[in-house]
Amino acid sequence: MIECVFSIDYEIYGNGGGSLRELVYEPAERLRAIFEKWNARFVAFIEVAELEMIEANNADKAIDLVKNQIREFYSEGYELGLHLHPQWYNARYENGKWELDYDEYNLCSLALERVVKIVDRSIEYIRNLLGASDFTPFSFRAGNWLFQPTRCLAAVLAERGIRVDTSVFKGGLQHQYKLDYRPALKNGYYWPFADDVNVPDPQGILIEFPVYTEKVPLWKLLTAKRIGLQRKVPTRTRVGKEKIFRLLDFLRLYQPLKLDFCRMTMEELSHMLGKEIQKDLKDPDLFRPVIAIGHTKDLIDFETVDSLLSFLRKNGVEVSVFRDVYRKVRC
Ligand SMILES: [Zn+2]
Repeated sequence: MIECVFSIDYEIYGNGGGSLRELVYEPAERLRAIFEKWNARFVAFIEVAELEMIEANNADKAIDLVKNQIREFYSEGYELGLHLHPQWYNARYENGKWELDYDEYNLCSLALERVVKIVDRSIEYIRNLLGASDFTPFSFRAGNWLFQPTRCLAAVLAERGIRVDTSVFKGGLQHQYKLDYRPALKNGYYWPFADDVNVPDPQGILIEFPVYTEKVPLWKLLTAKRIGLQRKVPTRTRVGKEKIFRLLDFLRLYQPLKLDFCRMTMEELSHMLGKEIQKDLKDPDLFRPVIAIGHTKDLIDFETVDSLLSFLRKNGVEVSVFRDVYRKVRC
């Protein structure tokens, strides 16, 4: 049985430039309308650090719209996951521009006390926003997928009541941040973990539901849609070593292609999911949670999202949130 979880990173990513209304609020509003039409729900991974800092610095008037939208998602049964880009917490806002703190880019590489502080601060912000002092996000996704080294952050999240992580994309490799999710290629559709997110550990409290990927030859990543969206993202200019690291990442002949409902065309999506549906027809007893990803900033092609939901409905694939799939694997 296949169940598809749509997860969307609800954020301005990159260097902090751009408006909340255009890059977060408006696309999320249109996405909600489509999901309502299909009576389905998605998981919104709220990047809490940037929202708190934007609010504190009065940097974007649309923050109230965004906060209100998050409250509505919560009351309408959308799942709110925790997403964190810790480089925001020490950010400085000067002359209309953000200077982010790249020393705190990878939450996993910070000292335990700092990790505790950041996680608690982020959960506190969502609780205040929702006016729900007992709210705990059920799922987590690390900024830039970085859940290595795993042990310290996994323990802190589990202690706070988070039960699901979805930071892994099998086969992933980033030389600059020492991210290596190639060992996870031999794992199944989900697995519990504790000390190393790549290694199944039956004692682990957290369950990893990786973002669905397929190994494809490099040229397949170079579609017009993907390149166009990539160009839109304002990022830090890469210098020296960073450029070399990036080049090393792309030197592999085969790359993991993520199931991305914003960046892929309907043809690519139906091809990728079609193969999974075929496998399921042959072996329907195996539970196959399939996690799709998107970013509010990349949401331009709403027609494809609508067609995808229609395709899933036609093929009898249910659209769920993490609470649903978790219940099926941990009961
Ligand atoms: Zn992000």
